[in-house]
Amino acid sequence: MAIHGKRRKYSIIPIKNSISGVWKNIVQMGKGSNLKFSNVEKRRELQIGCGDKTYFWLDKWAGDFALKDRFPSLFALQMDKFSLVQHRYSITNDQVSWLWGGDTTVTQLELADLWDECKNLIQNVELKKKYDRWMWKQEDEREEFTIGNLRSELDSMTSIPETQVLKWLSWIPKKINCFLWRAVLDRIPTRDALAIRNIQIPSVVCALCSICSESVDHLLISCQYAQLVWTAISLWVKIPPRYVLGLVGLLEHIQSHCSSQEKKKAVYMIIAATCWILWRIRNNVIFNGKTTNASRKVGDIKALSFV
Ligand SMILES: [Zn+2]
Repeated sequence: MAIHGKRRKYSIIPIKNSISGVWKNIVQMGKGSNLKFSNVEKRRELQIGCGDKTYFWLDKWAGDFALKDRFPSLFALQMDKFSLVQHRYSITNDQVSWLWGGDTTVTQLELADLWDECKNLIQNVELKKKYDRWMWKQEDEREEFTIGNLRSELDSMTSIPETQVLKWLSWIPKKINCFLWRAVLDRIPTRDALAIRNIQIPSVVCALCSICSESVDHLLISCQYAQLVWTAISLWVKIPPRYVLGLVGLLEHIQSHCSSQEKKKAVYMIIAATCWILWRIRNNVIFNGKTTNASRKVGDIKALSFV
């Protein structure tokens, strides 16, 4: 709200188009036709209690409309456009009286009538001595809105097929999760990738084997150095090696091979550790001129996985 909210704009999801960044991307995503989320406003539903989480003028709490749209001339006079329902009434002897929030009193006849009409409308709303709840509609069902529910809904959407093999695993440090994500999408700066982007480099040949050009799938999977490492790893996790051409193929192989979720997670983590160590070895060779033997590095992978 502090960055994207405008004092004169009262949209449910505030966005300033001139500011690029994460928030803008999230809101743009909601506009995608393949996401069922496009109408966030229709999916939010209020169960009103005492009015502690409901905007008096902006939210739809007295019917299928916001009061600001029903009574624009009253809204224009309000001093605090973002006031909550709970700050707009008082109860004495079970009688609810509504407070006028304008900077002048409602003296003009026309406005006074409108304000009476508004009060008649909201009188039908039953206020309770409990907190408001915002619900999230899911076809016929509704559940309390939580970020966790929304996230699992996003997770279950299959809009990017090539990343189906990826998980965001909380056991793994963020930078390694990100690294694996980028590797699967072919977005790490291998020599091959740099050359495609016209970056001047002395050679595109793999620094570990000096035979093939260094692509993601070569460096992490099919390079003979990587193969030595993967053979040792497959013995360790007791999954028979299969000839795969790339990282995606390897992750698919693992997912089809492991029966339990826990084992899937563990093996996924070991793959992440292996890819990470292979990348570090490659960087050490290129930038520090260090070479290391594969069996010693398998020890590093095991240690990293346990940590
Ligand atoms: Zn190689």
